[in-house]
Amino acid sequence: MNDDNSRELYDRALSVMPGGVNSAVRAAIEPYPFFVQKGDGGHVIDADGNRLVDWVMGLGPLLLGHDLPDQVRAAIQQNASEGPMYGTPTEVEVDLAEFVVRHVPSVEKIRFVNSGTEATTSAVRLARGYTGRNKIVVMQGGYHGAQESTLVEGDAENPQPSSAGVPHSFAEHTLPVPFNDEDAMRAVFEEHGEDIAAVMTEPILGNYGIVSPEDGYLEFLRELTDEHGSLFILDEVITGFRVGGLGCAQSEFGVTPDITTFGKIIGGGFPVGAIGGKAHIIEQFAPSGPVFQAGTFSGHPVTMAAGLETLQFAAENGVYDHVNGLGERLRTDLSEIVADQAPEYTVVGTDSMFKVIFTRAGPGKNSLDEACTDGCRQNPTCPRYDHCPKNAADVKNAETERWRRVFWGQMKAQGIFLSQNQFECQFVSYAHTDEDVERTLEAYKEAL
Ligand SMILES: *Cc1c(COP(=O)(O)O)cnc(C)c1O
Repeated sequence: MNDDNSRELYDRALSVMPGGVNSAVRAAIEPYPFFVQKGDGGHVIDADGNRLVDWVMGLGPLLLGHDLPDQVRAAIQQNASEGPMYGTPTEVEVDLAEFVVRHVPSVEKIRFVNSGTEATTSAVRLARGYTGRNKIVVMQGGYHGAQESTLVEGDAENPQPSSAGVPHSFAEHTLPVPFNDEDAMRAVFEEHGEDIAAVMTEPILGNYGIVSPEDGYLEFLRELTDEHGSLFILDEVITGFRVGGLGCAQSEFGVTPDITTFGKIIGGGFPVGAIGGKAHIIEQFAPSGPVFQAGTFSGHPVTMAAGLETLQFAAENGVYDHVNGLGERLRTDLSEIVADQAPEYTVVGTDSMFKVIFTRAGPGKNSLDEACTDGCRQNPTCPRYDHCPKNAADVKNAETERWRRVFWGQMKAQGIFLSQNQFECQFVSYAHTDEDVERTLEAYKEAL
């Protein structure tokens, strides 16, 4: 596969951008990332004219693939050409807010912002402002964007900034615990309960290989936070309008958070974030409340139109049946391939999310007959239960170097674009076809 143009572009990029990229993970591809010229349905065409089946989909935002349906494209073009934005409200913001409030049970009011990072930053400030407490509990391996309160690693006893530039005095207010570990969470509340403003977690760890919650875990978090007067923040930046359809992961899991953060799909492919939840909490945002929050571009008409028309299209066209059906087929057939060729590996995911985790330990051949419950829950009756990753440490113990340095390139050479490393998840879009799935399965057969 010729990549002369990508190499040349990366060479230029290195001279003017740090690491040659505008978002760190894009440089994970070695020796250099390929540059995209354009999208086409479920595919991308790179700068050298190579066509790849695209399971990355912008790292999550593209529910419909690269060719936007006419109604979506028309709404975007109209809003862009009539004057991109105004600094005063527009109708389409109200339309999208009403749509979300109608479909997501826990959301009574919503504030739109410009990225998932901005949404989680604002949600943390809101929780602190509402409770008058400072500490935030997060999951090890969870991701909430590039923000000061969550760029923290270590454990609750010894939280450390995970990036240069984050003051230790910020990290002290963040308590990282292992996902799916009720005892660790109870211990943190015993010690710090009075000071905990919120527990913030993704419903499914989607930035760390895809780790599903065990049966009852999210309900446990809901109850524990209630008992201690803390808020429960569900970060649905990835899972929102991806898992559980228009009701989001919270409806699939039957759990009601106080605050939900959105991003990615809710902007239909344009920069977006949002913070939704119970009215009396969201109203603590300025100007109705004392928690300052503002943004020049917030509720941008082009983004709002793209998000609204994308979600309306999904509501009217069986988008979730299509993407979840292909997701199920990928997971089922990948499980068979893995059982045959790499029984120590594990297929994870739900709805339109999927990934093969290169875990080392596992059962012998022939005993592997299901993905991790092939679904949204880790359930002890699943034959794979003991082998499904339960937390970030399990995923980190996988063969992450083999995945990134050997396997990724083998897939790319066969025209399949998978996410940059073992940790980022892969997504099915409405534009993907059975043929894309077949080609992809053949490639896995070759590469595994
Ligand atoms: C992507 C992501 C974010 C950050 O969103 P950005 O738009 O990249 O700032 C936050 N939380 C989760 C769960 C995400 O997947």
